[in-house]
Amino acid sequence: MHRTTIGDFELTILSDGTYRADGGTMFGVIPRVMWEKRIKPDERNTIALGLNSLLVRTGTHNVLIETGIGNKLTEKLHAIHRNEALLMRSFERAGVSPDEIDIVINTHLHFDHCGWNTHYKNGKPVPTFPRATYYVQHGELDHAHEQHERDRVSYMTDNYDPLVASGQMKPLRGDAEIVPGISVKVYPGHTRDLQAVILSSGGKVAAYPSDLVCDASHLDPVWTLGFDLYPLECIANKHLFYERAVPEQWLVVFTHDHELPWAYLEIGEKGRPVVRRDQSKGGTTARP
Ligand SMILES: [Zn+2]
Repeated sequence: MHRTTIGDFELTILSDGTYRADGGTMFGVIPRVMWEKRIKPDERNTIALGLNSLLVRTGTHNVLIETGIGNKLTEKLHAIHRNEALLMRSFERAGVSPDEIDIVINTHLHFDHCGWNTHYKNGKPVPTFPRATYYVQHGELDHAHEQHERDRVSYMTDNYDPLVASGQMKPLRGDAEIVPGISVKVYPGHTRDLQAVILSSGGKVAAYPSDLVCDASHLDPVWTLGFDLYPLECIANKHLFYERAVPEQWLVVFTHDHELPWAYLEIGEKGRPVVRRDQSKGGTTARP
């Protein structure tokens, strides 16, 4: 179990297990001969991805960032993605109950980021975190409701509509502080309104950039996802993210890396961000 502290905050990775996705869609315009050196695809050209939720215990609030894929996929989608739906088991192993979660933050509403928001009880979707307030960007919710032909396959209404109807999901309009030290910042690119989560306590910072930088294979600013709706904005926003994350030594949490759930970064020989060789020291104090 991956657990660390950032100032007064305790951070724990709670995994929903792995799933499979097409390697080509994960690397967009990057040719397979380049990406397969980093990740070997199987005979169907799929690669394994992690589903890393992050539990933040601030001492006052228990905040859960992202909720994986969950257990509501249809048989057909489950056969494609082969997801394991382990998040509730991860909660048990961490000694935490879903009832203890005060806040859930969804970076966006793609099915692989908000699946455990709800589960089925007697055939009806009910909140998995009954006491929690769920936060998402208003624009993301609008786009999910649009069911655009380009990406409607990524949106499952049962993951969010019941929470909107009950008032448990609060749409945000832009950057916001959710509780002291936990903020969301919008980085358009993957979707128009994708929000990263920034945690700061005791002069240390951790960030959950979600699909802006989804794993250690996608650190290069131009290695973006085929799913990205606005690729040029992705590249620009990755640069903006690194402008702070590298010099201030943020701990970067990777939503889809099943081997390395978090890392400190440095600028590599080619002038591109890479995983810092020495991960042992922890973050230096953020500069003002
Ligand atoms: Zn996504």
